[in-house]
Parts: sequence; structure tokens; C-alpha cells
Amino acid sequence: MAAKPGLVIVGACHAGVQLAVSAREAGWQEPITLIGEEEALPYQRPPLSKEFLLGKMPEESLPLRAEAFYEGHGIDLRLGSRARAIDRAAKRLSLEDGTRLDYAKLALTTGARVRRLSLPGAEAEGVFYLRSLADSQALAAAAESAGSVAVVGGGFIGLEIAAALASLGKQVTVLEAAERLMGRAVGPEVSDFYAKQHRARGVAVKLACALDRIELDAKGRVAGVVTSDGRIEADLLVIGVGVLPNGELAAEAGLDCPNGIAVDRCARTADPDIFAAGDCALHPNAWAGGGDGGMIRLESVQNAADQARAAAANLTGGETPYESVPWFWTNQFDLKMQMVGLSGGHDRRVLRGSPEEAKFSVFYFKGERLLAIDSINRPADHIAGRKLLTADLSPSPDQAADPDFALKSLVNN
Ligand SMILES: Cc1cc2nc3c(=O)[nH]c(=O)nc-3n(C[C@H](O)[C@H](O)[C@H](O)COP(=O)(O)OP(=O)(O)OC[C@H]3O[C@@H](n4cnc5c(N)ncnc54)[C@H](O)[C@@H]3O)c2cc1C
Repeated sequence: MAAKPGLVIVGACHAGVQLAVSAREAGWQEPITLIGEEEALPYQRPPLSKEFLLGKMPEESLPLRAEAFYEGHGIDLRLGSRARAIDRAAKRLSLEDGTRLDYAKLALTTGARVRRLSLPGAEAEGVFYLRSLADSQALAAAAESAGSVAVVGGGFIGLEIAAALASLGKQVTVLEAAERLMGRAVGPEVSDFYAKQHRARGVAVKLACALDRIELDAKGRVAGVVTSDGRIEADLLVIGVGVLPNGELAAEAGLDCPNGIAVDRCARTADPDIFAAGDCALHPNAWAGGGDGGMIRLESVQNAADQARAAAANLTGGETPYESVPWFWTNQFDLKMQMVGLSGGHDRRVLRGSPEEAKFSVFYFKGERLLAIDSINRPADHIAGRKLLTADLSPSPDQAADPDFALKSLVNN
């Protein structure tokens, strides 16, 4: 048991590491213990479906911080260690190995896990999900000898994996149940552009296509899939159909956990000594609900880092709200999309630039108010968009549509 109860953080990735770092920066003097169930030194997750999967980023470049950093900042990093239960009355956390840790403050940064399919064959050899370093390494190793790959799910991760494996020379088929790609996050112009770009690079994109059955060979390995569109040969099947928040620890301790751990704008749960941040946290966000605000769970590095910063600032009774404008990115082939704001609830879309030249942005408006911008290979629009949305400024739809209009002039005025 720690000599003195300090800050205990469960989950050692983008949110957990940032929370530990920011707590120290904010002057937290007591012990900090960071518990992570994975064995690897806390690492960046985004490259796992991009540069790392492509073999363009070595494993040594993945860690968020060097090992010495934790020691140097008095952060007791305990890897390969899983938290099992919270005793809120005693302010004590139990780990799977029987260790018990008393805490003054507890932060839950437990993230999310992949949603698994319940179809027969969904756990067979040759079926992959991608969340962890180990998942990415296993997929990369299996892909070496594979000729064909079926990817279930045309969201960000499914498409990034499809792009990486197609770039490595695999015959890739993407199966998307909805009518368009990335449909929950982007407008039809962006979906159609990506479908075209993937197809132009040899990826078979099947929309409105349901996975009916997984076929296995005599050895029980994946051999293909049967879809609403027919049969597809596949040596590997990759499933990217979303994630579920890891909220069980909180729920079992009696905290509200409808779709993630409910927190207020200061990243506090209903228990004043327990905070939550990152993919696991259901939080009030001013950008949700078409800009009117609402409870939302976001799955992005920006959200994990900024919400963790707010949590750290509030450990000792602060009132710093988490109110950063959301942003996100996805890299597929040579296409870099940057997104800022949340487009849900928009009633008008304005195109700026040229999809034919693979350089354009889509501006999402509700009435005259700008809600979000998706920029493909137009980083200046994204940067201006972050400033505009942070300052709650909107270009008019005509200004947004005019590629010669300097968006940043609105911010500088
Ligand atoms: C392949 C991939 C690509 C991505 N690409 C992008 C991108 O391009 N841009 C972007 O913004 N975001 C991207 N994301 C999303 C981004 O990585 C997540 O939003 C971010 O990792 C969230 O950080 P987190 O710390 O909240 O949760 P996580 O990263 O999920 O970390 C939570 C950690 O807690 C651990 N844990 C859970 N329960 C326990 C327990 N009981 N005891 C101990 N440890 C526990 C988990 O093992 C995990 O290590 C990507 C994600 C993936 C998987």
C-alpha cells in the first residue's frame, strides 16, 4: 500500500499520461501512480493503422514519453497491471494481482475497446481487430503472407487499414453497411470523394453491403466472407466496427455510466474524488448538439489530452472547464484530412477548393453559424477554422466558398 494516498490514474495512454504530466505541472506534490494493463510503455495509438502498419514508423518512435520521464517526474508507472474494483467509501482501488492502493484522488482514463462481432467465425484465425500495439503487430505479420483482405467497416480505422494494406500490395475489399463511407462523421461530398479515391487505388469499396457469414477453411482459418452482395475471397478479415467505452469499473462502483463515465464540464464524476477523461468519458461539450451543447463521448487524441488537462487542473478544487474545440485527423494514402468542430446538426454545406485536385474543404453551417470544417490537403483552412471556431466567428457561406477569401482575416480583425 502506498505510504501516502495520492493521485491514482487507471489507464496509461493518451489521457492517463497527459493527466499525470499536467498534474505535476499544476503543482501536485503527492504521489502519482499510473496503472496500465498493457505491457508496452504508453504509446501513441493513431500510427497503429497508419505509419506503423505501413512499416514507416519504428516501434521505438511510438512511446508518448521515454521511460526515464516517469521516474524523473515522480510518476510510479505500473504496467501489465489491471485495476479490478473501486471501494469509494474507503477510497481504495484494488488491482487484479491483489494489490490495494489508497487514493486521495482517482482518475479513470480507461479508454475504449473494440466492438466485437458475434457472428460464427468472428474469433477464428485470420480475423483481426485493431486497438493495441499487439493488434497492429499481429495484423502486419499476418498481412505479409496474405494476398487478399476484407475489411468490415468503412469508418476512419477501417479505411486507414484498407489504405495501408492496399499500399502494401494487397487486394483489399471494404464492406460498409451504410450507403456511404465515414457517414457518422462527414458529409456526402467527403464520403463520395473517399470512395472514389480508394477505388482509383484498387480498393473494392462495397456500400450498403452487409456481412452475412464468415467462411473458414478445413483448418478453421478465414477463407472468405459471404455478403449481401455475394462471396469475397479473403485470406484475412479485419473488423473495424467501432468501440465501446470501458466504464465497468465506474459503473460497478455506483457511478453513472450510460454510454461512458458521466462527468461534468470539469471532468468530475458525481464523486468529488473521482475524475474521468478521454474515450471513456461522457461529457458536456459545447460543440455537440449542432452547437447548442450536449453530452457526448469523443474518440480522439485532442479530446483525451485536453480533457485530461482540465481534470488535472481541477484535482484540488479548481473550476477549469474543458471547452476546447474538437479536432481530428485521418491519413489515407496521400490524403490528409483534418477536421475541426462537430458537424452534427448542420443544415448547409459549402464546398471550398477542388475535389478533382484532391484539395478542398467542406464547411458545415447551421443557419449562418459555422459548426465544422473538414479539410482535405488544405491545412490552412483547418488552421483558420480552429481559430474561427474557438473565437465563435463564422465566415459567411459566400466567403467560405471563395478560395481567394482569406479566412484568417476574420480572426485578425
Ligand atoms: C488504430 C487507431 C487509430 C487512431 N487514429 C486516430 C487519429 O488519427 N486521430 C485521433 O485523434 N485519434 C485516433 N485514434 C483514437 C485515439 O487513439 C483515442 O481517442 C485515444 O487513444 C484515446 O485515449 P485514452 O487514453 O482515452 O484511451 P485509450 O487509448 O483507449 O487508453 C486506455 C488505456 O487504459 C487501459 N485500461 C483500460 N481498463 C483498464 C483497467 N481496468 N486497468 C488498467 N488499465 C486499463 C487500456 O488497456 C488502455 O491502454 C485512433 C485509435 C486507434 C485504435
